[in-house]
Amino acid sequence: MMMAAEIANPSVSIQDLSLNFGAVSVLQTLNLDVADGEFIVLLGPSGCGKSTLLNCIAGLLDISDGRIFIKGKNVTWEEPKDRGIGMVFQSYALYPQMTVERNLSFGLRVAGVPKDEIAKRIARAAEILQIEPLLQRKPSALSGGQRQRVAIGRALVRDVDVFLFDEPLSNLDAKLRSELRVEIKLLHRHLKNTMIYVTHDQIEAMTLADRIAVMKGGVIQQLDAPQTIYNRPVNRFVAGFLGSPA
Ligand code: ADP
Ligand code: MG
Repeated sequence: MMMAAEIANPSVSIQDLSLNFGAVSVLQTLNLDVADGEFIVLLGPSGCGKSTLLNCIAGLLDISDGRIFIKGKNVTWEEPKDRGIGMVFQSYALYPQMTVERNLSFGLRVAGVPKDEIAKRIARAAEILQIEPLLQRKPSALSGGQRQRVAIGRALVRDVDVFLFDEPLSNLDAKLRSELRVEIKLLHRHLKNTMIYVTHDQIEAMTLADRIAVMKGGVIQQLDAPQTIYNRPVNRFVAGFLGSPA
């Protein structure tokens, strides 16, 4: 039998997390340990609670029950900015009136990071994401793919260990999606950061994940390597959503 491996010193540890919106239970005593440097994909149909879970980890939602640890520290009641995470959303949410460079530096200036340190981090992110020629442009002068690179850059310059991505590619066309998929994979190989990545796209999950957490109705149905899920789905739902054809 395959046993779920215990993870020593997880980068992110979610323990008995529940979240209710009013009388509606959206996440139910959910447990998830993410190893340091691991790429975890939360995969499931629309409405299964993926974004809600990510927002709980980010501290954008107050949980109803349970605990969240990041790098061994209980952050359950910490402010989002104090959790040591960077988040990239589906919509680009760039400041339209600011240049790319300003978009990248804004959060750092607010946080009081010294100027030369900001310049260093922006230069590094711009190089990694190949957006150096775009730094003085406004978002309106960028393509969808370029905007999403800048959005990823904003998480990169935060210099955090844990990245949360919520369907960052779902507004892009198929060609750009597959290009950026490769880039995100390379970025992760390069940075070796911990990644929790939400998608409803099976191909994205299969190509990016070290492990996939398949969700349905606020419950993780199976948490395994992509090949294991594909070859040995634990139930009909997982089989139907991702498993090999019968
Ligand atoms: P996913 O990201 O997997 O598509 P969500 O996490 O956005 O799913 O939503 C999970 C469930 O929680 C859905 O049924 C959704 O309608 C509900 N939900 C999300 N946000 C709220 C909210 N602010 N108030 C009430 N219900 C919500
Ligand atoms: Mg969502």
